[in-house]
Amino acid sequence: MLVILKPDATAEDLERVLGRIESLGAVAEVHRPGEVLIAVRGADINPQTLVAMSGVETVQPSAPGYWLASRRAHPEDTVVRVRGRSLGGDNPPVLIAGPCAVESEDQLLRSAEAALEAGAQMLRGGAYKPRTSPYSFQGLGEAGLEMLARVRERFGVPIVTEMRDAATLELFQRYDMDVIQIGARNMQNYEILRRAGQAGRPVLLKRGPATSIEEWLMAAEYILLAGNPDVILCERGVLPPASVATRYQLDIAAIPIVRRLSHLPVIADPSHAAGARDLVAPLAEAAIAAGAQGLLVEVHAEPCQALCDGRQALEPEQARAMMESLRRHRYVPDASPVAASGPAVVPWRGERTLRR
Ligand code: PEP
Ligand code: MN
Repeated sequence: MLVILKPDATAEDLERVLGRIESLGAVAEVHRPGEVLIAVRGADINPQTLVAMSGVETVQPSAPGYWLASRRAHPEDTVVRVRGRSLGGDNPPVLIAGPCAVESEDQLLRSAEAALEAGAQMLRGGAYKPRTSPYSFQGLGEAGLEMLARVRERFGVPIVTEMRDAATLELFQRYDMDVIQIGARNMQNYEILRRAGQAGRPVLLKRGPATSIEEWLMAAEYILLAGNPDVILCERGVLPPASVATRYQLDIAAIPIVRRLSHLPVIADPSHAAGARDLVAPLAEAAIAAGAQGLLVEVHAEPCQALCDGRQALEPEQARAMMESLRRHRYVPDASPVAASGPAVVPWRGERTLRR
């Protein structure tokens, strides 16, 4: 059971509620992520004995395991703001694009350029890659974070990158990575979730391929409870039945369901769901049509050379075509707010220019 106090509840109100819970033989645990939440365990208490007490906002007798992430707690959509970009609410869908992994400075720059030319408002790229095989490319580690920081300096665009281990949070803070991604494999690693809650920057939380929507929202709850309100949920495909030809199966229905249950922004990753580049654009369109507030898409300057997830990475031209198609269908506006905000031209290698 969860007892939620009113914002103006006094210390005396809290003491009285805790006293009542203990007198009924239960154990109370107080959480203060801004508001005061009391988790009650150990005895069956009639909610009516608490609901009328001074300072009590609401009592959730059979709480689903998340409260802060729920629309009941927070009816308005959360909008996550990152370096002038707004994700969530009624804002146009945000494209986050870039390579699966940071492989070299040159690969990152050229892939970033392709992503930005297509209309990306944030760049993605993993410096720490969680790989199924220990013999696969594991990422460049800190050197990759350094390259991401340099690419941000060059293009002035926020960086989204995965934190694979809780112990590396200080490095993500030192290089000022804008959004911390928590991957599908780690989204139930509670130490990482708690640390991400203390990171002081937005968190992009993927859904695990075998987790329910409720489990996903409870994972988000860990981050919110640790004091970080800026969580972006990312649907990236669940385990498909044997007959399905894609790597995972994008759970399109999860998008409107989560938007109903939660105020947190929801985006979709069609790349990992599809596992094949030709399927990325149609899945991206389906996700936006279903209400996704952004896309996380893998784009690589030369996918056939990629050290990770090359088969699903869009070629630069395909990334542009995907965005063209989204614009034609009016899923995204003609000019992104970033492009419209100023014609800053950033020269690169003295031979090409990029508008951002
Ligand atoms: C990724 O985004 O590159 C990644 C590893 O994704 P996921 O955690 O969804 O497998
Ligand atoms: Mn990948």
